[in-house]
Amino acid sequence: NKYVTIKCHINGAPNESDFEIKTETFSLSVESGSNNVVVKSLYLSIDPYQINRMKSYSSSQNTISQAVGIVPGEAIDASGVGRVVASGHPDFERGDLVSGKISWGEYTIVKGANIDKLDLMGFPPSYHVGILALSGLTAYAGFFEVCKPKKGEKVFVSAASGSVGNLVGQYAKLFGCSVVCCAGSKQKVELLKEKLGFDDAFNYKEETDLESALKRYFPDGIDIYFDNVGAEMLEAAVANMNAFGRVAVCGVISEYTDTAKHAAPNMLDVVYKRITVRGFLCIDHMNLFADFISTTANHLRNGKIHVIEDISQGLESIPAAFTGLFRGDNVGKKIVQIIDE
Ligand code: NDP
Repeated sequence: NKYVTIKCHINGAPNESDFEIKTETFSLSVESGSNNVVVKSLYLSIDPYQINRMKSYSSSQNTISQAVGIVPGEAIDASGVGRVVASGHPDFERGDLVSGKISWGEYTIVKGANIDKLDLMGFPPSYHVGILALSGLTAYAGFFEVCKPKKGEKVFVSAASGSVGNLVGQYAKLFGCSVVCCAGSKQKVELLKEKLGFDDAFNYKEETDLESALKRYFPDGIDIYFDNVGAEMLEAAVANMNAFGRVAVCGVISEYTDTAKHAAPNMLDVVYKRITVRGFLCIDHMNLFADFISTTANHLRNGKIHVIEDISQGLESIPAAFTGLFRGDNVGKKIVQIIDE
C-alpha cells in the first residue's frame, strides 16, 4: 500500500518537499466478524483545514487541531469515495461503493466499518467528495443556517472560486440575494461573473486598500459576509457591514500559514452596528444533510447549479494538489482521483 505522509510538522506555508510517499506491506484480507473493511481509494478530498492538523502542537493555537493532529510518517485521514475490497462486517461486501473517512493512500482499513454505503443518485462519484459532500454542506449550512439570509440582501463571499465559496454564491443567487465576490486571479474573476452569473467580482490581489474596494463594490453596505479567508479581508468587510449584518466565519485560510496574522476587526463597529460574527463547523449541521442533498440534487438535475471541480490524477499528485490550495492554484473543489475505474 502506498500512502502520503508529512516528513515533519509544518508551521508555515507547506511545500511539496514536506511530504513523502511511503510504501507499507498491507494485507487485503480481513477476518470475518472483525467488523473491519478494506477500502480501495477512488477519489480523495483535498482540504485546507488539514494544514492546521499538520502544525506542531507547540505552535498550533488551535486545541481542536491538536486533538486530531497528524503524526509525521503516519497515514493522513481524509474524506473520500472508495470501493470495498474485503469485508469483515455483515453490512458491507466486496464491491460496495462507500464514502467517508479514508486516507491519502491507496487502501485504508476502516475499523468498525465507520463508513457509509454510497448511493450515487445518478451523479459522478467525484460529486460525492465535493458538491454533494462536506464542502457542499458547509456552503449550504453556512449560508442558510448561519447567515440567515433575506431575499434581496447584499452578500459578499471571499475565496469565491473555491469549493465552498462558489457554492455559497450560487445558493445566494438562487435564493434571491445579490452577490459580489472576490478571488485571486483574472481568470477566476471572469468565471465568477460570466459562468456563475454573480453580480460582480474582483481580484483582491489588485486592490491596495480592501476597505475602499468594498466601499466601491457595496455602496449600500454589506448585509452578509461569508468569510473563507480572515485577516485583512475580514477587517475590511466588518468596516463595510450594514446594521444587523451577519458574518459567517467559515475559515481563515490566509491565517493558517502565517501564525503572526490575526484579524482585528473594529469591535466598535460590531457593537454599534449590532453585527453577528459567528464561526461554525459543517459537522455541527449534519441534521441539515438530507435537506442539503435533496435541494442540491434537484438544482443539479434542473441545471441550476454549475459544478466546478479541479481533479488531479494519481496519489503522487497529492502534495502538489494540497500545497496548491495555499497558492490559489485550484479552481473549484480540489480532488485527487486515485484509480480510474
Ligand atoms: P478552496 O477551494 O476555496 O481553496 C482555497 C482557496 O483559498 C484558494 O484557491 C485561494 O483562492 C484562496 N486562498 C489561499 N490562500 C489565500 C490567502 N492567503 N488569502 C486569500 N485567499 C487565499 O477551499 P475550500 O472551499 O475547501 O475552503 C474554503 C475555506 O473554508 C477555508 O478557509 C476552509 O478551511 C474553510 N472550510 C471550513 C469548513 C467548516 O466546517 N467551517 C469546512 C470546509 C472548509 P484565491 O485564488 O481566490 O486566492
